[in-house]
Amino acid sequence: MGVDAVVASDRRQALEGLQPERTLTLDLVSPERAARQILRFALDHPLAAIVPSDDLTAEVAAIAARRLRLPHNPPEAARTARRKDLLRRTLRAAGVPTPRYRLLPPAADPQAAAQDQAYPCVLKPTFLAASRGVIRADDAAGFAAAVRRIRAILALPEVMERGGGAEEPILVEEFIPGAEVALEGLLREGRLQTLAIFDKPDPLDGPFFEETIYVTPSRHPVEAQQAIEATAAAAARAIGLTEGPVHAELRLHAGEAWLIELAARSIGGLCSRALRFGTGMTLEEVILMHALGGDAGAAVRTRDASGVMMIPIPSGGILRAVGGQQEARAVPGVVDLAVSATLGRPIVPLPEGSSYLGFIFARAGSPAEVEAALREAHRRLRIVID
Ligand code: ADP
Repeated sequence: MGVDAVVASDRRQALEGLQPERTLTLDLVSPERAARQILRFALDHPLAAIVPSDDLTAEVAAIAARRLRLPHNPPEAARTARRKDLLRRTLRAAGVPTPRYRLLPPAADPQAAAQDQAYPCVLKPTFLAASRGVIRADDAAGFAAAVRRIRAILALPEVMERGGGAEEPILVEEFIPGAEVALEGLLREGRLQTLAIFDKPDPLDGPFFEETIYVTPSRHPVEAQQAIEATAAAAARAIGLTEGPVHAELRLHAGEAWLIELAARSIGGLCSRALRFGTGMTLEEVILMHALGGDAGAAVRTRDASGVMMIPIPSGGILRAVGGQQEARAVPGVVDLAVSATLGRPIVPLPEGSSYLGFIFARAGSPAEVEAALREAHRRLRIVID
């Protein structure tokens, strides 16, 4: 696109000393401090746009972009989208269909709290992502076990570093049954443009919520898709988000689309590779174009069906091998396969883990063919974990 990019990260990049104008190290523990670091950098290297890549940097980008008078979301909105408790409070106050909830304080006795809880319910940390620490409980014993497990995750040093850890409450929500979808969208001056609706054909009923297959276009009826778009738009409005990408998770339940989550960022992992726009633009190009003031309104997804499988982590241990990759790639419709976990390193399943083993991508004439290709490719993989 002819854009000079500066990559900011919380780890110093190897070539920073040689290319001080191309990389920037940020202290992401404090969004305010990270934003000040960007402002200092911008004094010598003027910036035309700041594009965040995840929930935390969405808040950093909003703060810095406001000071630099670049297009941005209100920082409070980015913060609300990042904090699951603030999100629920905001959505319920605005009448957007979203689960009823309460907060379990860090010192609360789980046995006592379990007694006056309706079941099934979902317990989760307020500030983590990728379904980390999200656990369904069906009764009081399950509730108490989930609380213990989430508190242990909150006490991990690497989690403490990101969120305030052990002083954080646990969010307890009613479990919303029903088919789940993801909506990928772009906000332009407060208007939500839908870029894609992904169906998730594998049921997500817990106790843990591991993402697997995403397929677009959606096979749900038009009215359901309209409800999905309407709820996502109402949620973005209630939160106050106005510019840039959004990624929302919703459930179809009782004739309505219920909002489970809306983040001020694009889809995670390598999943965006499943999307192409116009004559082959990537999602990242659409986002950059919009951030730089271009007209992204014409970005229309290509017409073929497409999908991705986030390869599930079958068990914890040391990842030794992922065999059968050639056989998996040979499945008609499969266009790419990427193993993102590192051989020889530990891999951790949900609810403690937070990453995927890898991704399989497929394209075909229909969503059903895409789904079948992804399942067949996955069946051919031989994952060896010690
Ligand atoms: P994260 O941001 O870590 O992905 P979410 O709050 O989106 O956390 O929860 C992850 C997944 O857990 C959701 O996509 C959904 O499948 C399931 N889930 C979370 N909360 C609920 C709920 N209240 N009812 C039903 N399913 C839920």
